[in-house]
Amino acid sequence: MIDGKTYVAQVLENVKSHHAHEAEFLQAVEEVFASLVPVFDKYPEYMAENLLERLVEPERVMTFRVPWLDDQDRVQVNRGYRVQFSSALGPYKGGLRFHPSVNQSIVKFLGFEQIFKNALTGQAIGGGKGGSDFDPKGKSDKEVMRFAQSFMTELQKHIGPDLDVPAGDIGVGAREIGYLFGQYKRLNSYQAGVLTGKGLSYGGSLARTQATGYGAVYFAKEMLAEQGETLADKTALVSGSGNVAIYAVEKLQELGANVLAVSDSSGYIYDPKGIDLASLKQIKEVERGRVRDYLTNHPGAQFVPADQGSIWSIKADLVFPCATQNELTKEHAQMLVENGVLAVTEGANMPSTLEAINVFQKAKVLFAPAKAANAGGVAVSALEMAQNASRRTWTFESVDAELQTIMQTIYQESSAAAKHFGKEGDLVFGANVAGFLKVAEAMHAQGVV
Ligand code: GLU
Repeated sequence: MIDGKTYVAQVLENVKSHHAHEAEFLQAVEEVFASLVPVFDKYPEYMAENLLERLVEPERVMTFRVPWLDDQDRVQVNRGYRVQFSSALGPYKGGLRFHPSVNQSIVKFLGFEQIFKNALTGQAIGGGKGGSDFDPKGKSDKEVMRFAQSFMTELQKHIGPDLDVPAGDIGVGAREIGYLFGQYKRLNSYQAGVLTGKGLSYGGSLARTQATGYGAVYFAKEMLAEQGETLADKTALVSGSGNVAIYAVEKLQELGANVLAVSDSSGYIYDPKGIDLASLKQIKEVERGRVRDYLTNHPGAQFVPADQGSIWSIKADLVFPCATQNELTKEHAQMLVENGVLAVTEGANMPSTLEAINVFQKAKVLFAPAKAANAGGVAVSALEMAQNASRRTWTFESVDAELQTIMQTIYQESSAAAKHFGKEGDLVFGANVAGFLKVAEAMHAQGVV
Protein backbone atom coordinates (compact mmCIF):
# COMPACT_ATOMS: atom_id res chain seq x y z
CA MET A 1 0.00 0.00 0.00
CA ILE A 2 1.16 3.56 -0.68
CA ASP A 3 2.30 5.78 2.19
CA GLY A 4 0.38 8.73 3.68
CA LYS A 5 2.42 11.30 1.80
CA THR A 6 1.73 9.77 -1.61
CA TYR A 7 -1.96 9.29 -0.80
CA VAL A 8 -2.53 12.86 0.38
CA ALA A 9 -0.59 14.24 -2.62
CA GLN A 10 -2.69 12.16 -5.03
CA VAL A 11 -5.99 13.36 -3.58
CA LEU A 12 -4.74 16.96 -3.55
CA GLU A 13 -3.74 16.72 -7.23
CA ASN A 14 -7.17 15.38 -8.03
CA VAL A 15 -8.92 18.21 -6.15
CA LYS A 16 -6.69 20.80 -7.82
CA SER A 17 -7.35 19.50 -11.31
CA HIS A 18 -11.11 19.43 -10.77
CA HIS A 19 -11.45 22.77 -8.97
CA ALA A 20 -8.61 24.85 -10.40
CA HIS A 21 -10.76 28.00 -10.40
CA GLU A 22 -11.81 27.70 -6.74
CA ALA A 23 -8.83 29.45 -5.13
CA GLU A 24 -10.21 29.87 -1.61
CA PHE A 25 -11.49 26.30 -1.48
CA LEU A 26 -8.11 24.97 -2.59
CA GLN A 27 -6.35 27.11 0.02
CA ALA A 28 -8.49 25.68 2.83
CA VAL A 29 -8.00 22.14 1.51
CA GLU A 30 -4.24 22.53 1.20
CA GLU A 31 -3.91 23.80 4.74
CA VAL A 32 -5.79 20.82 6.17
CA PHE A 33 -4.17 18.22 3.90
CA ALA A 34 -0.66 19.35 4.86
CA SER A 35 -1.42 18.17 8.40
CA LEU A 36 -2.84 14.77 7.50
CA VAL A 37 0.18 12.84 6.20
CA PRO A 38 1.21 11.33 9.58
CA VAL A 39 -2.45 10.54 10.31
CA PHE A 40 -2.76 8.32 7.25
CA ASP A 41 0.56 6.66 8.07
CA LYS A 42 -0.86 5.82 11.48
CA TYR A 43 -4.33 4.77 10.23
CA PRO A 44 -3.81 3.07 6.85
CA GLU A 45 -7.39 1.72 7.03
CA TYR A 46 -8.63 5.27 6.35
CA MET A 47 -6.54 5.30 3.21
CA ALA A 48 -7.95 1.95 2.13
CA GLU A 49 -11.45 3.44 2.46
CA ASN A 50 -10.39 6.46 0.40
CA LEU A 51 -11.76 8.57 3.21
CA LEU A 52 -10.07 11.80 2.16
CA GLU A 53 -11.42 11.84 -1.36
CA ARG A 54 -14.91 11.28 0.02
CA LEU A 55 -14.54 13.97 2.68
CA VAL A 56 -13.38 16.66 0.26
CA GLU A 57 -16.41 16.10 -1.98
CA PRO A 58 -19.47 17.90 -0.54
CA GLU A 59 -22.45 15.64 0.04
CA ARG A 60 -24.58 18.21 -1.80
CA VAL A 61 -24.21 21.71 -3.32
CA MET A 62 -27.25 23.81 -4.13
CA THR A 63 -27.31 27.05 -6.11
CA PHE A 64 -30.52 28.89 -6.76
CA ARG A 65 -32.03 32.06 -8.19
CA VAL A 66 -33.15 34.71 -5.71
CA PRO A 67 -35.37 37.32 -7.41
CA TRP A 68 -36.66 40.27 -5.37
CA LEU A 69 -38.11 43.76 -5.79
CA ASP A 70 -36.13 46.81 -4.68
CA ASP A 71 -37.72 49.98 -3.30
CA GLN A 72 -38.13 51.37 -6.82
CA ASP A 73 -40.04 48.23 -7.83
CA ARG A 74 -37.18 47.09 -10.05
CA VAL A 75 -36.60 43.35 -10.31
CA GLN A 76 -33.22 42.33 -8.86
CA VAL A 77 -31.66 38.88 -9.10
CA ASN A 78 -29.03 37.35 -6.84
CA ARG A 79 -27.61 33.87 -6.54
CA GLY A 80 -28.17 31.76 -3.43
CA TYR A 81 -26.00 28.87 -2.22
CA ARG A 82 -26.10 26.11 0.34
CA VAL A 83 -23.37 23.53 0.57
CA GLN A 84 -24.16 20.50 2.74
CA PHE A 85 -20.61 19.31 3.15
CA SER A 86 -20.57 16.56 5.74
CA SER A 87 -23.20 14.95 7.96
CA ALA A 88 -20.78 12.45 9.52
CA LEU A 89 -21.19 13.96 12.99
CA GLY A 90 -24.75 15.34 12.85
CA PRO A 91 -27.05 17.67 10.92
CA TYR A 92 -25.28 20.10 8.57
CA LYS A 93 -24.49 23.23 10.56
CA GLY A 94 -22.99 26.53 9.50
CA GLY A 95 -23.80 30.12 8.73
CA LEU A 96 -25.12 32.09 5.78
CA ARG A 97 -23.00 34.90 4.36
CA PHE A 98 -24.54 37.80 2.42
CA HIS A 99 -21.70 39.66 0.70
CA PRO A 100 -20.97 40.60 -2.94
CA SER A 101 -17.83 38.40 -2.90
CA VAL A 102 -19.81 35.21 -2.23
CA ASN A 103 -19.36 32.52 -4.89
CA GLN A 104 -19.07 28.75 -4.93
CA SER A 105 -15.39 28.77 -3.95
CA ILE A 106 -16.05 30.94 -0.89
CA VAL A 107 -19.02 28.86 0.25
CA LYS A 108 -17.07 25.62 -0.22
CA PHE A 109 -14.01 26.86 1.66
CA LEU A 110 -16.25 27.97 4.52
CA GLY A 111 -18.16 24.68 4.49
CA PHE A 112 -14.97 22.63 4.45
CA GLU A 113 -13.52 24.56 7.41
CA GLN A 114 -16.82 24.21 9.22
CA ILE A 115 -16.60 20.39 9.23
CA PHE A 116 -13.45 20.41 11.38
CA LYS A 117 -14.43 23.43 13.46
CA ASN A 118 -17.74 21.83 14.36
CA ALA A 119 -16.00 18.55 15.18
CA LEU A 120 -13.68 20.42 17.54
CA THR A 121 -16.64 21.85 19.50
CA GLY A 122 -17.45 18.30 20.66
CA GLN A 123 -21.12 18.86 19.71
CA ALA A 124 -22.98 16.53 17.35
CA ILE A 125 -23.02 18.79 14.30
CA GLY A 126 -21.90 18.23 10.71
CA GLY A 127 -20.55 20.91 8.39
CA GLY A 128 -22.37 23.20 5.97
CA LYS A 129 -22.40 26.79 4.77
CA GLY A 130 -24.39 29.03 2.48
CA GLY A 131 -25.15 32.54 1.45
CA SER A 132 -25.59 34.89 -1.44
CA ASP A 133 -23.81 37.60 -3.40
CA PHE A 134 -26.51 39.99 -2.11
CA ASP A 135 -25.04 43.05 -0.36
CA PRO A 136 -27.14 44.22 2.62
CA LYS A 137 -24.99 47.37 2.85
CA GLY A 138 -26.99 50.42 1.76
CA LYS A 139 -30.25 48.47 1.44
CA SER A 140 -33.40 49.48 3.29
CA ASP A 141 -34.90 47.14 5.91
CA LYS A 142 -37.75 46.39 3.50
CA GLU A 143 -35.33 45.44 0.72
CA VAL A 144 -33.43 43.15 3.07
CA MET A 145 -36.74 41.61 4.13
CA ARG A 146 -37.92 40.99 0.58
CA PHE A 147 -34.57 39.49 -0.35
CA ALA A 148 -34.50 37.27 2.78
CA GLN A 149 -38.06 36.05 2.10
CA SER A 150 -37.22 35.13 -1.46
CA PHE A 151 -33.97 33.42 -0.36
CA MET A 152 -35.78 31.38 2.30
CA THR A 153 -38.60 30.41 -0.07
CA GLU A 154 -36.05 28.24 -1.85
CA LEU A 155 -33.76 27.36 1.07
CA GLN A 156 -36.62 26.01 3.23
CA LYS A 157 -36.90 23.00 0.93
CA HIS A 158 -33.47 21.84 2.07
CA ILE A 159 -33.23 22.61 5.81
CA GLY A 160 -34.74 21.46 9.09
CA PRO A 161 -33.84 21.13 12.79
CA ASP A 162 -32.46 17.59 12.30
CA LEU A 163 -31.29 18.09 8.72
CA ASP A 164 -29.49 21.39 8.22
CA VAL A 165 -29.42 24.37 10.58
CA PRO A 166 -28.15 27.67 9.11
CA ALA A 167 -27.11 30.70 11.17
CA GLY A 168 -25.43 34.06 10.56
CA ASP A 169 -22.05 35.02 9.15
CA ILE A 170 -20.82 38.21 7.44
CA GLY A 171 -23.86 40.32 6.44
CA VAL A 172 -26.31 38.09 8.30
CA GLY A 173 -27.11 39.28 11.80
CA ALA A 174 -30.17 39.48 14.03
CA ARG A 175 -32.22 41.44 11.46
CA GLU A 176 -31.61 38.98 8.63
CA ILE A 177 -32.12 35.90 10.83
CA GLY A 178 -35.45 37.37 11.98
CA TYR A 179 -36.74 37.79 8.41
CA LEU A 180 -35.43 34.36 7.38
CA PHE A 181 -37.06 32.71 10.38
CA GLY A 182 -40.38 34.48 9.77
CA GLN A 183 -40.54 33.21 6.21
CA TYR A 184 -39.53 29.66 7.21
CA LYS A 185 -42.29 29.61 9.82
CA ARG A 186 -44.85 30.92 7.36
CA LEU A 187 -44.07 28.21 4.82
CA ASN A 188 -43.71 25.36 7.31
CA SER A 189 -44.55 25.78 10.98
CA TYR A 190 -42.85 27.08 14.09
CA GLN A 191 -39.69 25.01 14.48
CA ALA A 192 -37.32 26.89 16.75
CA GLY A 193 -34.32 24.71 15.94
CA VAL A 194 -34.24 25.39 12.19
CA LEU A 195 -31.99 28.46 12.52
CA THR A 196 -29.64 29.68 15.24
CA GLY A 197 -28.64 33.19 16.17
CA LYS A 198 -32.32 33.97 16.67
CA GLY A 199 -33.61 36.90 18.71
CA LEU A 200 -34.17 36.22 22.39
CA SER A 201 -37.94 36.75 22.03
CA TYR A 202 -38.39 33.76 19.72
CA GLY A 203 -35.97 31.01 20.75
CA GLY A 204 -32.50 32.56 20.63
CA SER A 205 -29.81 31.78 23.17
CA LEU A 206 -28.31 34.24 25.60
CA ALA A 207 -24.60 34.78 24.85
CA ARG A 208 -24.89 33.67 21.19
CA THR A 209 -24.23 37.25 20.02
CA GLN A 210 -21.07 37.44 22.11
CA ALA A 211 -19.94 33.85 21.57
CA THR A 212 -17.51 34.05 18.63
CA GLY A 213 -15.62 37.10 19.91
CA TYR A 214 -15.60 35.96 23.54
CA GLY A 215 -14.60 32.45 22.46
CA ALA A 216 -11.59 33.71 20.51
CA VAL A 217 -10.39 35.64 23.55
CA TYR A 218 -10.93 32.63 25.84
CA PHE A 219 -8.84 30.61 23.41
CA ALA A 220 -6.06 33.22 23.40
CA LYS A 221 -6.15 33.23 27.20
CA GLU A 222 -5.51 29.46 27.29
CA MET A 223 -2.76 29.68 24.69
CA LEU A 224 -1.01 32.47 26.64
CA ALA A 225 -1.48 30.72 29.98
CA GLU A 226 0.58 27.77 28.76
CA GLN A 227 3.47 30.25 28.28
CA GLY A 228 2.91 31.77 31.71
CA GLU A 229 1.38 34.89 30.12
CA THR A 230 -1.94 36.71 30.60
CA LEU A 231 -4.02 39.19 28.59
CA ALA A 232 -3.76 41.86 31.27
CA ASP A 233 -1.98 45.05 30.22
CA LYS A 234 -1.24 43.74 26.72
CA THR A 235 -1.88 45.94 23.70
CA ALA A 236 -4.16 44.49 21.02
CA LEU A 237 -5.32 45.06 17.44
CA VAL A 238 -8.72 43.76 16.34
CA SER A 239 -9.49 44.00 12.64
CA GLY A 240 -13.10 44.27 11.56
CA SER A 241 -15.92 45.93 13.46
CA GLY A 242 -18.74 43.44 13.05
CA ASN A 243 -20.16 41.01 15.52
CA VAL A 244 -16.96 38.99 16.03
CA ALA A 245 -14.70 42.04 16.42
CA ILE A 246 -17.01 43.95 18.78
CA TYR A 247 -17.27 41.10 21.28
CA ALA A 248 -13.58 40.26 21.02
CA VAL A 249 -12.90 43.90 21.99
CA GLU A 250 -15.41 43.67 24.85
CA LYS A 251 -13.84 40.56 26.37
CA LEU A 252 -10.27 41.79 25.82
CA GLN A 253 -11.08 45.00 27.67
CA GLU A 254 -12.81 43.10 30.47
CA LEU A 255 -9.67 41.00 30.92
CA GLY A 256 -7.43 44.05 31.08
CA ALA A 257 -6.02 44.36 27.55
CA ASN A 258 -5.80 47.72 25.76
CA VAL A 259 -7.36 47.56 22.27
CA LEU A 260 -5.69 50.20 20.11
CA ALA A 261 -7.40 49.75 16.77
CA VAL A 262 -10.37 48.35 14.85
CA SER A 263 -11.23 48.54 11.14
CA ASP A 264 -13.72 48.06 8.34
CA SER A 265 -13.25 47.72 4.59
CA SER A 266 -12.77 51.50 4.26
CA GLY A 267 -9.85 51.78 6.72
CA TYR A 268 -8.85 51.59 10.36
CA ILE A 269 -9.28 53.67 13.51
CA TYR A 270 -6.32 54.05 15.84
CA ASP A 271 -7.11 55.32 19.33
CA PRO A 272 -4.03 55.37 21.57
CA LYS A 273 -6.31 55.84 24.61
CA GLY A 274 -8.00 52.55 23.83
CA ILE A 275 -11.09 51.98 21.67
CA ASP A 276 -14.29 53.29 23.28
CA LEU A 277 -16.52 50.26 22.93
CA ALA A 278 -19.80 52.05 23.66
CA SER A 279 -19.15 54.39 20.71
CA LEU A 280 -18.19 51.52 18.44
CA LYS A 281 -21.37 49.63 19.32
CA GLN A 282 -23.51 52.72 18.74
CA ILE A 283 -21.95 53.25 15.28
CA LYS A 284 -22.04 49.63 14.16
CA GLU A 285 -25.01 48.04 15.93
CA VAL A 286 -27.42 50.99 16.05
CA GLU A 287 -26.51 53.39 13.24
CA ARG A 288 -25.05 50.76 10.84
CA GLY A 289 -22.34 53.34 10.08
CA ARG A 290 -18.63 53.20 9.20
CA VAL A 291 -15.67 53.19 11.62
CA ARG A 292 -14.59 56.67 10.49
CA ASP A 293 -17.74 58.03 12.23
CA TYR A 294 -15.81 57.29 15.47
CA LEU A 295 -13.86 60.53 14.90
CA THR A 296 -16.99 62.63 15.52
CA ASN A 297 -16.84 61.90 19.25
CA HIS A 298 -13.14 61.05 19.46
CA PRO A 299 -11.17 63.79 17.70
CA GLY A 300 -7.96 62.45 19.31
CA ALA A 301 -8.24 59.21 17.36
CA GLN A 302 -6.89 58.74 13.86
CA PHE A 303 -8.61 57.29 10.77
CA VAL A 304 -6.35 55.79 8.09
CA PRO A 305 -8.08 54.88 4.79
CA ALA A 306 -7.50 51.32 3.54
CA ASP A 307 -5.43 52.44 0.55
CA GLN A 308 -3.08 54.46 2.78
CA GLY A 309 -2.10 51.97 5.44
CA SER A 310 -2.88 48.74 7.21
CA ILE A 311 -4.00 48.10 10.76
CA TRP A 312 -1.22 45.47 10.86
CA SER A 313 1.45 48.20 10.74
CA ILE A 314 0.67 49.19 14.36
CA LYS A 315 2.91 47.79 17.08
CA ALA A 316 0.97 45.58 19.51
CA ASP A 317 1.35 42.40 21.58
CA LEU A 318 -1.81 40.65 20.46
CA VAL A 319 -3.49 40.48 17.09
CA PHE A 320 -7.05 39.32 16.37
CA PRO A 321 -7.92 39.28 12.66
CA CYS A 322 -11.73 39.33 12.84
CA ALA A 323 -12.70 40.77 9.43
CA THR A 324 -12.56 38.32 6.52
CA GLN A 325 -10.54 35.74 4.57
CA ASN A 326 -6.99 36.56 3.44
CA GLU A 327 -6.97 39.97 5.13
CA LEU A 328 -3.53 39.25 6.63
CA THR A 329 -0.81 38.62 4.05
CA LYS A 330 2.86 37.65 4.20
CA GLU A 331 3.91 41.33 4.16
CA HIS A 332 1.56 42.11 7.05
CA ALA A 333 2.89 39.12 8.98
CA GLN A 334 6.47 40.32 8.45
CA MET A 335 5.56 43.79 9.78
CA LEU A 336 3.90 42.28 12.84
CA VAL A 337 6.89 40.03 13.53
CA GLU A 338 9.30 42.96 13.19
CA ASN A 339 7.14 44.81 15.71
CA GLY A 340 7.48 41.92 18.18
CA VAL A 341 3.95 40.49 18.11
CA LEU A 342 3.42 37.82 20.76
CA ALA A 343 0.24 36.04 19.63
CA VAL A 344 -2.15 35.92 16.68
CA THR A 345 -5.69 34.61 17.22
CA GLU A 346 -7.95 34.23 14.19
CA GLY A 347 -11.53 35.39 14.81
CA ALA A 348 -12.57 35.47 11.13
CA ASN A 349 -12.53 32.41 8.87
CA MET A 350 -9.11 31.89 7.19
CA PRO A 351 -7.99 35.52 7.67
CA SER A 352 -4.28 34.69 7.26
CA THR A 353 -2.84 33.52 3.95
CA LEU A 354 -0.78 30.30 3.98
CA GLU A 355 2.37 32.43 3.50
CA ALA A 356 1.45 34.61 6.49
CA ILE A 357 0.99 31.54 8.70
CA ASN A 358 4.46 30.34 7.63
CA VAL A 359 5.99 33.66 8.66
CA PHE A 360 4.36 33.49 12.11
CA GLN A 361 5.34 29.88 12.67
CA LYS A 362 8.96 30.43 11.62
CA ALA A 363 9.19 33.38 13.99
CA LYS A 364 7.70 31.25 16.82
CA VAL A 365 4.74 33.59 17.25
CA LEU A 366 1.86 31.89 19.10
CA PHE A 367 -0.73 31.22 16.41
CA ALA A 368 -4.35 30.18 16.98
CA PRO A 369 -6.04 29.04 13.74
CA ALA A 370 -9.62 30.01 12.98
CA LYS A 371 -11.18 26.58 13.05
CA ALA A 372 -10.17 26.26 16.70
CA ALA A 373 -10.19 29.87 17.88
CA ASN A 374 -13.47 31.01 16.32
CA ALA A 375 -15.44 27.86 17.10
CA GLY A 376 -17.22 29.57 20.00
CA GLY A 377 -19.97 30.94 17.76
CA VAL A 378 -21.05 27.65 16.31
CA ALA A 379 -20.54 25.94 19.68
CA VAL A 380 -23.13 28.23 21.25
CA SER A 381 -25.35 27.70 18.19
CA ALA A 382 -25.33 24.01 19.13
CA LEU A 383 -26.26 25.00 22.68
CA GLU A 384 -29.12 27.06 21.19
CA MET A 385 -30.29 23.91 19.35
CA ALA A 386 -30.12 21.98 22.64
CA GLN A 387 -32.20 24.64 24.41
CA ASN A 388 -34.75 24.68 21.57
CA ALA A 389 -35.07 20.89 21.59
CA SER A 390 -35.62 20.80 25.35
CA ARG A 391 -37.80 23.96 25.35
CA ARG A 392 -35.63 25.48 28.03
CA THR A 393 -33.72 28.75 28.32
CA TRP A 394 -30.37 28.78 30.02
CA THR A 395 -28.96 31.81 31.83
CA PHE A 396 -26.25 33.96 30.28
CA GLU A 397 -23.86 32.74 32.97
CA SER A 398 -24.44 29.06 32.27
CA VAL A 399 -24.04 29.46 28.49
CA ASP A 400 -20.90 31.56 28.99
CA ALA A 401 -19.46 29.00 31.43
CA GLU A 402 -20.13 26.21 28.94
CA LEU A 403 -18.48 28.28 26.20
CA GLN A 404 -15.37 28.73 28.33
CA THR A 405 -15.16 25.00 28.98
CA ILE A 406 -15.58 24.24 25.28
CA MET A 407 -12.81 26.70 24.28
CA GLN A 408 -10.48 25.27 26.93
CA THR A 409 -11.16 21.75 25.67
CA ILE A 410 -10.55 22.75 22.05
CA TYR A 411 -7.23 24.27 23.08
CA GLN A 412 -6.22 21.20 25.08
CA GLU A 413 -7.23 18.72 22.37
CA SER A 414 -5.47 20.69 19.62
CA SER A 415 -2.35 21.10 21.70
CA ALA A 416 -2.36 17.39 22.69
CA ALA A 417 -2.80 16.23 19.07
CA ALA A 418 0.18 18.35 18.02
CA LYS A 419 2.29 16.92 20.83
CA HIS A 420 1.19 13.36 20.06
CA PHE A 421 2.50 13.60 16.49
CA GLY A 422 5.75 15.34 17.53
CA LYS A 423 4.63 18.85 16.49
CA GLU A 424 4.43 20.46 19.91
CA GLY A 425 3.04 24.00 19.86
CA ASP A 426 1.79 23.80 16.24
CA LEU A 427 -1.91 24.50 16.75
CA VAL A 428 -2.61 24.61 12.99
CA PHE A 429 -1.52 20.99 12.79
CA GLY A 430 -3.15 20.09 16.12
CA ALA A 431 -6.57 21.58 15.28
CA ASN A 432 -6.63 19.99 11.82
CA VAL A 433 -5.72 16.58 13.17
CA ALA A 434 -7.94 16.66 16.27
CA GLY A 435 -10.93 17.76 14.16
CA PHE A 436 -10.19 15.33 11.35
CA LEU A 437 -9.85 12.30 13.65
CA LYS A 438 -13.36 12.80 15.05
CA VAL A 439 -14.86 13.00 11.58
CA ALA A 440 -12.76 10.10 10.28
CA GLU A 441 -13.84 7.80 13.11
CA ALA A 442 -17.51 8.51 12.36
CA MET A 443 -17.03 8.04 8.60
CA HIS A 444 -15.18 4.77 9.19
CA ALA A 445 -18.01 3.50 11.41
CA GLN A 446 -20.72 4.50 8.92
CA GLY A 447 -19.23 2.66 5.91
CA VAL A 448 -18.79 3.89 2.35
CA VAL A 449 -21.49 6.56 2.03
N1 GLU B 1 -20.76 31.61 10.80
C1 GLU B 1 -20.23 31.16 12.04
C2 GLU B 1 -18.97 30.35 11.81
O1 GLU B 1 -18.23 30.65 10.91
C3 GLU B 1 -21.26 30.50 12.93
C4 GLU B 1 -22.00 29.36 12.31
C5 GLU B 1 -23.16 28.84 13.16
O2 GLU B 1 -23.41 29.36 14.23
O3 GLU B 1 -23.77 27.90 12.70
O4 GLU B 1 -18.66 29.42 12.50
